[in-house]
Amino acid sequence: MKYNGLSDSEVIESRKKHGENILTPVKKKTWWKEYIGMFTEPLIVILLIAGVLSIAISVYDFYNLGHDWKVFFEPTGIFIAIFLATTLAYIFESRANKAFNILNHVNDDETVDLYRNGTVTTIPRKDIVVGDVVIINTGDEIPADGNIIDSIDLNIDESTLTGEPLCRKSADPKDVDDSETTYPSNRLLRGTKVMEGHGIMIVDKIGDSTEMGKVYEQSQIDNSVKTPLNEQLAKLGGLITKCSYIIAGLIIIAQLTNYLVFNEWQGWIPFLSQFLRTVMIAVTLIVVAVPEGLPMAVTLSLAYSMSRMLKTNNLVRKMHACETMGAATVICTDKTGTLTRNMMQVYKTDFFGKDEQYKYFLEDMAINSTAQLDTSGETPVVIGNPTEGSLLLWLKSNGIDYNKLRNTKTRTAELPFNTERKFMATEIQTDENERILYIKGAPEIVYDICVDKNESKTEEVNRLLAEYQNKAMRTLGFAYEVIKEGKTHIKNNRLSLSNLQFLGIVAISDPVRTDVADAVKEVSDAGINVKIVTGDTPGTAKEIARQIGLWDNSIDNSDNIITGPEFAELSDGQLRERVADLKIIARARPLDKKRLVEALQANGEVVAVTGDGTNDAPALKTAHVGLSMGDGTSVAKEASDITIIDNSFSSIGRAVMWGRSLYKNIQRFLLFQLTVNVAACLLVLVGSFIGTESPLTVTQMLWVNLIMDTFGAMALASLPPSRSVMNEKPRDRRSSILTRAMLWELIGVGFIFFVITLGFYWLFIHSDIDSLLQLSNVEIEARHTITTYDATLLFSIFVWLHFWYMFNSRCFETGESIFKVRMSKGFWTIVMIIVLGQLFITEIAYEFFNVSPMIHTTDWKFNPTGTIDLLIIISVSSIVLWIREAYHILSR
Ligand code: ATP
Repeated sequence: MKYNGLSDSEVIESRKKHGENILTPVKKKTWWKEYIGMFTEPLIVILLIAGVLSIAISVYDFYNLGHDWKVFFEPTGIFIAIFLATTLAYIFESRANKAFNILNHVNDDETVDLYRNGTVTTIPRKDIVVGDVVIINTGDEIPADGNIIDSIDLNIDESTLTGEPLCRKSADPKDVDDSETTYPSNRLLRGTKVMEGHGIMIVDKIGDSTEMGKVYEQSQIDNSVKTPLNEQLAKLGGLITKCSYIIAGLIIIAQLTNYLVFNEWQGWIPFLSQFLRTVMIAVTLIVVAVPEGLPMAVTLSLAYSMSRMLKTNNLVRKMHACETMGAATVICTDKTGTLTRNMMQVYKTDFFGKDEQYKYFLEDMAINSTAQLDTSGETPVVIGNPTEGSLLLWLKSNGIDYNKLRNTKTRTAELPFNTERKFMATEIQTDENERILYIKGAPEIVYDICVDKNESKTEEVNRLLAEYQNKAMRTLGFAYEVIKEGKTHIKNNRLSLSNLQFLGIVAISDPVRTDVADAVKEVSDAGINVKIVTGDTPGTAKEIARQIGLWDNSIDNSDNIITGPEFAELSDGQLRERVADLKIIARARPLDKKRLVEALQANGEVVAVTGDGTNDAPALKTAHVGLSMGDGTSVAKEASDITIIDNSFSSIGRAVMWGRSLYKNIQRFLLFQLTVNVAACLLVLVGSFIGTESPLTVTQMLWVNLIMDTFGAMALASLPPSRSVMNEKPRDRRSSILTRAMLWELIGVGFIFFVITLGFYWLFIHSDIDSLLQLSNVEIEARHTITTYDATLLFSIFVWLHFWYMFNSRCFETGESIFKVRMSKGFWTIVMIIVLGQLFITEIAYEFFNVSPMIHTTDWKFNPTGTIDLLIIISVSSIVLWIREAYHILSR
């Protein structure tokens, strides 16, 4: 039956009246509510309280120390630092979160086939209007609510609405008993999925007025950033937090003991003031130690990876997939469309029947098919199954109008094609009242059930098939049977035959994608095994595998290939033994794929699997990473973790590269963050035992925290991927993100930084040589506080050491010289911000940070000694970088 659908003007009219087919998103929290929310984080609250207390101390000092306004600088600095850190974190996080929002639009851009202006065409789902005549096929998600006007074996998964996983539907309500179902059996609803069959519906409700629109709350897509990595990091964060509380407690005890033992009692108010100061240092240390930047680093990394992966045709649907892909050890891939271009073209037809049967051969191609051609443009475009589409194109190029052949017949029954059955059958009735059964499918299966086989024909068929398969072609066999009066051959999804006649073979070429061979080599070099799972014949599969460099006839043998039926016969134990060697599963059925995935997983592999059909959903769900294809069905897409938009295998290689890089970036950030942590915690802790003042003040620590948490996350978490990660073997998925090498490095380097800064602190305290020499005798006098200038030097040494170390962290595990590693624009921006920020702190805002300017004097005159000190600190601290460089050269 042919439908006209709406005309363009009717579409506009309908859209004006009923609006667009989109669900209005639920209003989210306003931005300022989210922003204020960030200040309610427990640590920030503590810090804010500390800030208020410090104002109280300042007020006290103000009245006691001669009305000097400078006493208010430090508390002001604290508030500015809190404000700055929170605002920056908010801005970057909300920008990253925006990147995730594209996921919510993906569904609206899914395409739908429908009739419009008298032809078949494809449009985005959101453009559907009331009155549209929509074509629905197995695996589709219903785009809007409407009534069925034509259907074959329609089974719908309504679980999103009613919880019913399989409802039978039909154009004729009398066909199905719907007395117990929620919705009438001729009604299709948005968001439900076609599990079987196909049909036509007329849309009568769109967008918010659909049943789904009424219950719609949130997008179905999981865009939470909870990934296994996240959980691992949360655990690590928890541990660090606990340690930092212990250290903070120790600092308070040490400082108060120091105060009480080595100072004369001056009354409660000074004591209280000292106590508050200590508490603030301790709280700040916790703020420094707790890696608040970690979740942000992960979010930034994921958002960055996700938006960049999208540019390389990977749409990440579930966040964990980004990182899991980096750990993949096996990729099970489809053949058609993924390794090949899915640009099917009939290469040759071999007709075996008598001349008068030729019309059946043509009708089998035209009618026993679900594909259509969109002829509205200059060149016809296939809508639906590409294999069938190639047959329609072949008919068209031979001057045959497939629609004419279809329109003079009525379909009376159909057995749809599926990978399990590997053939399709249709029963029709002609206008002349002739009834015919058409079959097309895998040639060996179709030929086998024909009654007109003979030896020479069998030989010829086999010879032709071998020839085509050696050319990597897909082959189809065709057969027909004239149905006797009163009989039917398709009943209850089963086929019964009595006189099937073989018509011929069609060879269809589908060239291998040009970039696949390189991509296969790339992932193989990366230590990942590739396995082809295809419904096609062993011959075709082997040839494709050979062309992409996966199969070598001189090395590979029958151990490396298996067919679906042989596969099914293996016991689980046998399968686990053989699975590592298998490279190809030919003539596979959908459940074979799932079983393959399970066997590999049982062997400890991290498995990624591709799939495009509804039948692939179980395998996609079972795999660690399910990769659906851009051309795949909605059901496959929903079951998957990543959609490969261009269907190409080379995009999968890129997903691996991104996954690995993402993991490395988090490791780099972690290394940097924890090294600073070790140094800062040890310095403040030990410093509080040997001096009355903390070596780093509250505001200074907050700046250090900003560098290592927020800036560190931004600089290191979103570095571009490097190809070199593809030369390594996959990481062990169960191992901790904090590797032994990292642990050694962060403890070692952190400790060295601590020793260096503590050494200076000690020197500054005891810069009075006399008292240094008499230390053992007059210990009490030796506990000086340091001068503001010394504090400036100490602070500068601490910051610049870590500044250079950020470069080392960036190069971590790249195996490259610092001068060779590609830094990103973002990285350099952060470098600039840190340099300018540090100079701003010491030269302009110095009073807020308890330091004094170095380049100039407080009355703004050039200060040569201070400038030289600064230059010495910057250049000498860069030794951090040279040591790494030297190590790099030596280790090579
Ligand atoms: P994969 O995409 O997994 O590599 P495939 O798409 O080649 O595999 P199937 O779709 O299962 O695998 O096809 C298996 C065989 O069924 C084909 O070799 C072909 O002979 C036959 N076949 C494919 N499509 C159709 C169809 N629409 N109608 C009838 N037979 C078909």
